[in-house]
Formats: sequence, structure tokens, C-alpha cells
Amino acid sequence: MNNVYDNILGLIGNTPMVKLNKVTNSIPAKVFAKLESCNPGHSTKDRIALHIIEDAEQKGLLQPGSVIVETTSGNTGFSVAMVSIVKGYDCVLAVSDKTKPEKIAYLKALGAKVYICPANVPADDPRSYYEVAKRIARETPNSIYINQYFNELNIDAHYLTTGPEIWEQTEGRITHLFGCTGTGGTLSGSAKFLKEKNPNIKIIGVDADGSILKGFHETGTINPLDIKPYQIEGMGKNLIPAALLFDQVDEFVRVNDEMSAYRTREIALKEAIMGGYTSGAVTQGLLQYANSHPISEDDVIVLIYPDHGSRYITKVYSDQWMAEQGFVNNCVHNYDEVFGT
Ligand code: PMP
Repeated sequence: MNNVYDNILGLIGNTPMVKLNKVTNSIPAKVFAKLESCNPGHSTKDRIALHIIEDAEQKGLLQPGSVIVETTSGNTGFSVAMVSIVKGYDCVLAVSDKTKPEKIAYLKALGAKVYICPANVPADDPRSYYEVAKRIARETPNSIYINQYFNELNIDAHYLTTGPEIWEQTEGRITHLFGCTGTGGTLSGSAKFLKEKNPNIKIIGVDADGSILKGFHETGTINPLDIKPYQIEGMGKNLIPAALLFDQVDEFVRVNDEMSAYRTREIALKEAIMGGYTSGAVTQGLLQYANSHPISEDDVIVLIYPDHGSRYITKVYSDQWMAEQGFVNNCVHNYDEVFGT
């Protein structure tokens, strides 16, 4: 039988790439979006959930009914919950009390046990979601803590799958890889594989305006002045994740909430690709990079689109939300006017 799987986990990875035909027309190169939304959990995080849990199985750390613990309300939570169901484990997620009710409903629908923890306490407070997750993992026999920001298996998952897929899909012709960095795992693991194949491939990290990662890459120190609140979820940080291999990244570009939001909506309107907010951010990152770096028509550029736009209907795809942010061009359908192209 063809294209038939034993269970939903068989669909993880081997995601397609789609050429962008309009949004990046100002650039002479061929630009492709790698659609991580085509994973069954609709994001790149399916890869790390599967890899980390299967690694623990191989090490004999898990038995039927074991508990998988993580501290996310985002994409990793959905992926860990999905893998846990199929493999017969319990999934426990500690999330902040800022998490939207629909996300909690989604996680519960996938069988996760969700602990809601106060957001406004320091990370080392016993009530914080970090501490709650650590305590549950410590006190529960046969449990593992995914700990994606500090788990090298996060990098490994992409070194073993995302990187090789990109190399094969472009037949080794890729010249630039752009990825938003949260934990850094997607970009670092893919970069490590691709640079081993061809060290000339440029790896560009896209950081949020309000995050320290770009500054840290350039100076080796954390600049507290870089830290400010921002709206894009899943990328940027106010700590240095161990899953981000800074030496694999050639350069960081910093993008803001507003331009990334317009770009996300433009991609839906012009390419009919419903991406998440960071899909807009990574595309915005490329367009900013191209303003100050030569790009030729022989270049082959890959953008990683981490997740699906359906998760952002009440956010970046909502005119009301856009207006609340003061993003005044939110209803404009002629994006050439907005961007002045
Ligand atoms: N975009 C979104 C929507 C995400 O959820 C994440 C993961 N935090 C990223 C980008 C960045 O991926 P990574 O953690 O592998 O750097």
C-alpha cells in the first residue's frame, strides 16, 4: 500500500517546499518556503517531540504509562501531546496563566494534563511553570522532561531530518537558509548538516525586536536594553538557549511585530499560504537582509515556515487585533502600497 501509515507519527517530517512567486519578487534569486505546517501536528516541533521521546525509549527510560513533561503552551506542547498519545504515555504540560483558553482546550483535546501556573513570578519561584515542570519530572518515576531550550537532542532532530531534507530538495543548490530562532534547534541542526555539506551556505537567523539573540551573537554579551515586550510568539528570547549554536549562524536580522504581521498577511493574500506569525517574520528577515547584501539570480534561498496560520486567526489574521496594536495598514489589500514597492 502506498502513502498509508501505521499511525499519525508516520507523517512527521519530509515536509514539502513551495516556491514563492510574488512576495519576494524584488529579489532575483529563487526563494522556497519549507512548510513545517505539513507535519501532522502542524509545526516543526513534531520532529523534536518524536526524536526526544524515541531517544528516551532507546535508553530504557520509558515504560507504558510513563510521564512526559514540558513547559510550553505553544507548538511543542501540541507535538508532545500527540506523540504521547500514540506511544501510550501521559503528557503533563505546565503553562502560564496568560495562555489563551482555546490553546488549553486544544492541549486537553490531545489528552494532555495541563497545569496553569502564574506568569508574574520569577523563574526560580516554586510556583513558576519551570519549577512546577521540574518538580513533577523529579517526583514522578519513569518520567522525562523534554526541556527543549537546553536539550541537545532538539538540535539533533533537525540535523537528522530537516537539514538532509533541505539538501535533497534543493539538490545541493541551496545558498542561503533563513530561520526564526526560539530555542534555536531548527536553524542550528539544519545549519550543522548543511555546512558540513557546503560550508559556503549562508545561515541567517531571524530574531525579534525585543530579544537578545542578535545582540549576543554580535557582542557575546546580553544587552538588557535589547529586552522589551513583543507580540511574535515562538521566536526570540531573554535567555541564551543551549539549543542555539551561535557559531553555525553567519548573521542575525532583527524584525519587528508590525512588519512581520503585514508580511504574514501578505503571504496569505498573494501566495495563498496560511503561515504563522513567524512565517511572516522570516520572510521579512530575508527582505531586510536583501537590502544590504548582494543576492544573485543563481542563489537558492530557503525560508523555514515553522507552523500554520490557523493558530493565529484571533491574532495576526484578525483586523481587530491588528487595529489594537496600532498596525494601521491591517485592512489594506494592496500591499505594494504598504511596502512602497
Ligand atoms: N516559530 C514558531 C511559531 C515556533 O513555535 C518556534 C518554536 N519555538 C519557532 C518559530 C522557532 O523554532 P526553534 O525553537 O527551533 O528555534
